[in-house]
Amino acid sequence: ALVTRIGPSPTGWLHIGALYVAMINRDIAHRTGGRYLLRIEDTDQARELAGAVDQFQRAFDYFGLPADEFDGVGDYGPYKQSEREAIYLTYARELLREGKAYLCFATEDELADIRRRQDASKIPPGYYGGWAIWRDRDDADVQAKLDEGAPYVIRFRSPGEVNGRAVFTDAIRGRLEHEDNRNDVVIVKSSANAVRLPTYHFAHAVDDHLMRVNLVIRAEEWISSVPTHLQLFAALGFEQPTYAHIAPLMKQISGGKRKLSKRKDPEASVDFYVAEGYPAAAMLYYLRGLANGRLAELPLAEALEAPIELAEFGVAGPLVDLVKLDDISADHIATLSGPEILAAVRVWAADHDADLVPVIDANPELALAALAVEREGVENPRKDLRKWSDFRTAYGFFFPELFTLVTADDERIQGVDPALIRAFAADFVAGYQHLDDGQEWFGQIRDLATKHGFAPNAKEYKKNPDAYPGSIREASQIIRVALTGSTRSPDLFAVARTLGADEVLRRVGAVAG
Ligand code: ATP
Ligand code: GLU
Repeated sequence: ALVTRIGPSPTGWLHIGALYVAMINRDIAHRTGGRYLLRIEDTDQARELAGAVDQFQRAFDYFGLPADEFDGVGDYGPYKQSEREAIYLTYARELLREGKAYLCFATEDELADIRRRQDASKIPPGYYGGWAIWRDRDDADVQAKLDEGAPYVIRFRSPGEVNGRAVFTDAIRGRLEHEDNRNDVVIVKSSANAVRLPTYHFAHAVDDHLMRVNLVIRAEEWISSVPTHLQLFAALGFEQPTYAHIAPLMKQISGGKRKLSKRKDPEASVDFYVAEGYPAAAMLYYLRGLANGRLAELPLAEALEAPIELAEFGVAGPLVDLVKLDDISADHIATLSGPEILAAVRVWAADHDADLVPVIDANPELALAALAVEREGVENPRKDLRKWSDFRTAYGFFFPELFTLVTADDERIQGVDPALIRAFAADFVAGYQHLDDGQEWFGQIRDLATKHGFAPNAKEYKKNPDAYPGSIREASQIIRVALTGSTRSPDLFAVARTLGADEVLRRVGAVAG
């Protein structure tokens, strides 16, 4: 069985790419009856962001991707690298004893000087070969530094040779050949720190071995580290895992595409999707389609069950297209019932739009009736809900608490004299009948429009625009804006029936003044 993992660093909020990679790892392990674990790679404590670990877990829970092993659950913990200090030191000491690692007392100034000289001579930067000033020092020098109490790091003695090549197989890309690593990478950070933490490279090797990880699926940016990782696995006497490097999620920009980046793109952060209220199922469906194009062709329920295949990944990164995601999500929401939608909106609102919750709770029947308008029982339901945050925009006007009354001089009622608008609205209120037949209901507006001099149809109005204040269309628009606060709305009759007679009169009455 396969054992996989995701190893996010809590130096920032979760990247949507990390969620994507987590989903792939979890799916592939579970398909073989294996385990999927979450490991917090928090060895860079200076850059740690408070609250990030909780945010990771909330995000994984929201998307239904909990790990089988993490904090308190699983046999190979702790699963936070900052709590595994003693384990890394044990392995580092072993390497020191075997001469596969050494203490390095190079100071910041000395390292900066090395970098400067390498840069000036245009040779690759790093601590290798003749530049590695502590690699072959006498024991006496080392002891003298220790006696002084000078701080040191532990470096790996890289076996890489000049012009050496590292050859390995990637489960997605096949055989890869890279320049071998010659850098004596740091494996344990400075002894001046209170906590002696390992570097990412060393922790990866030790943890993936101890946690029995046998397939490492991670973002492509780590390919160049594989030669270093293979050397570390060999030096430690560990069996190496299989690697699969996933192409990054991309963003379309003018003239090409680039990696979706948290610093530049709000939609690179998982929080963006949670705050907007994309349903987890729609997101997972979309992400699965990006992973394996075949899955985008299947209906949602099937795609969520069908396996993700490493062999089907492309080498080019897929584009994240929010318009496409919106379509997928709207289609998915259109399959849900009113009560399901309302329950989900309410859960979302509790965290992201708290003022909406009491409004929904005070009017549950109105909320369901609003959702039913042109949604249920019709062949082409409105797809105005792409995410839960759209509820307020698309349906908020139904709720008296969220509706701002309209007046005759409102700029959304255009081209008609405000005095006429007021008279028209007043007449509407005076004679209003809350009829339950749509044709008859609209008949009231038509009759009233003719009475107030509006043209009977758009054609007539166009023929002789100076003779009329507008056509029936403009007259209806007055009622539409009065009832919905918008020039575009669902069927007006359905809106009026949902609002109820009193609210219709209150809203049109406000226009009458
Ligand atoms: P930056 O804003 O510097 O580009 P970033 O967007 O790369 O940062 P990081 O916090 O450095 O974000 O990355 C967190 C994790 O997400 C890493 O494991 C990285 O491999 C992965 N990751 C980052 N960008 C992508 C991407 N576009 N597609 C897939 N995974 C990504
Ligand atoms: N901590 C690394 C990251 O943030 C994990 C890399 C790996 O999966 O090996 O991406």
